[in-house]
Amino acid sequence: MSSSVLTATVDHWINGGPVTATPDTPTTDVYCPATGEVTKRVPAGSRTDAEAALASAAAAFPTWSATPAHIRARVMFAFRDKMLADIDRLAAIICDEHGKVIDDAKGELQRGIEVIEFSCGIADLLKGEVTESIGTGVDGMSMRKPLGVVVGIVPFNFPAMVPLWMAPIALACGNTFVLKPSEKVPTLAMEMAAMLSESGLPDGAFNVVHGGGEVVDTLITDPRVEAVSFVGSTPVAEHVHRTATEAGKRVQALGGAKNHLVVLPDADIDNVVSALMGSAYGSAGERCMAISVVVPVGDQVAQAIRDRLTERIAELRVGPGTEPGIEMGPLVTDAHRDRVIGYIDTGVAEGAELVVDGRHGKSSTGFFLGASLFDHVTPDMRIYREEIFGPVLSMVRADTFAEALDLVNSHEFGNGAALFTSDGRAAQTFVSEVRAGMVGVNVPIPVPMAFHSFGGWKRSLFGDHHIHGHEGVRFYTRYKTATVRWPQAGSALAEYVMPTAK
Ligand code: NAD
Repeated sequence: MSSSVLTATVDHWINGGPVTATPDTPTTDVYCPATGEVTKRVPAGSRTDAEAALASAAAAFPTWSATPAHIRARVMFAFRDKMLADIDRLAAIICDEHGKVIDDAKGELQRGIEVIEFSCGIADLLKGEVTESIGTGVDGMSMRKPLGVVVGIVPFNFPAMVPLWMAPIALACGNTFVLKPSEKVPTLAMEMAAMLSESGLPDGAFNVVHGGGEVVDTLITDPRVEAVSFVGSTPVAEHVHRTATEAGKRVQALGGAKNHLVVLPDADIDNVVSALMGSAYGSAGERCMAISVVVPVGDQVAQAIRDRLTERIAELRVGPGTEPGIEMGPLVTDAHRDRVIGYIDTGVAEGAELVVDGRHGKSSTGFFLGASLFDHVTPDMRIYREEIFGPVLSMVRADTFAEALDLVNSHEFGNGAALFTSDGRAAQTFVSEVRAGMVGVNVPIPVPMAFHSFGGWKRSLFGDHHIHGHEGVRFYTRYKTATVRWPQAGSALAEYVMPTAK
């Protein structure tokens, strides 16, 4: 795919407006996955670009952090209204750059907008505590203060929702923000930057800098940065977590996943199959909460799921996300599609049974691939151990519920896990004992609402805080207590012992 010399290069957003990338900066092509055409270019960025964004955020911090919380919230109310009013256009941009179907793009926008709505309540969320008279004439109080400049580094698969997991809460708490979008989907970040400006956010409070490793490494080590939120693959999450914590930053780094859906013999198989179709093949499997492993308990359940899934996959409507009725769009790039095909080849070589071969659905125009289903996958296989991030579902059969639970718990990732059953006691055991951060009971993709918090366990999250909700407020603020006395002149005595209440 060669890029046209006329293809536009995306700007950075620094200090309240677009900033042209430094001349002669190398660029990366941005594709429309449905056609395979290059639509624009994104600058590879540089240390200088990253430092300009950080300088802008640092300069904006004193004024923005001193703005009363309820006034900061007004910016979020206006931002929310703008996003909602423009949701069709924004969804079309996501569909064009990412490839997901339009309604799915609107779904991610809606889930992101809900985080903005949560941040509109920031005045209440930041309310501190006061204890009158912790000693005679002495009051105690606690409060949460913003950190300073915070950074967000985000993946390609949710161009709107993942940045919105971070920025609205960080900004509402009084921080200033630098966002590093994925080079595959750079436009939504710029749209949101413009909308935040139009909503009354002061210049410099929100910045966007594009780029790769050099930009990221500058952002996560610069002394002006207090905290780093990262969402992406586990190797990069681990790198960001290690490097940024060594540099003294507070870090939350969310990584990859291999989400299991366990099916007990008493589950309704039609519901299970519908749940699997959406959660394994929706968004072409490019979701960190996609179900990539189904674990039926007992061969009878396994056979029933396998038969019905095979029928349903044959009916799956694959095509451009802009067309009505399409259920699965293309993969994000040709290189990513090749990687997914490589995994399907590996699964066959490893001895798994390829029941439905999505490689037949590889298109010559655009980055389409069919849905694949493997049966008789075993825990030692690479297709089981590693995240494929494509429309490939693996079936691992278990004989008992205990064996299925042990399988989920032994996997290195622990983002989401689901159980389908009509047995309340089994569900209770699963919720209590499964080692995953987000658990579904008869819900395949248990993505928490904005007022709860999102995050995995094990090697799906590095750091202490999940993202958004109250965890987000805690992550983007630090705690302070004050002990206050207004004594009469000359009444204070020197105390040489540990002060105690009198
Ligand atoms: P990625 O790790 O390749 O990229 C994520 C971000 O890191 C991008 O902005 C990218 O430019 C940057 N980056 C990439 N390589 C880097 C390097 N060597 N040094 C510094 N920065 C680097 O991830 P992706 O392919 O964009 O997204 C898919 C991955 O994200 C999947 O693994 C998926 O599970 C994960 N994800 C996780 C969650 C979650 O909440 N746990 C949510 C969405 C996506």
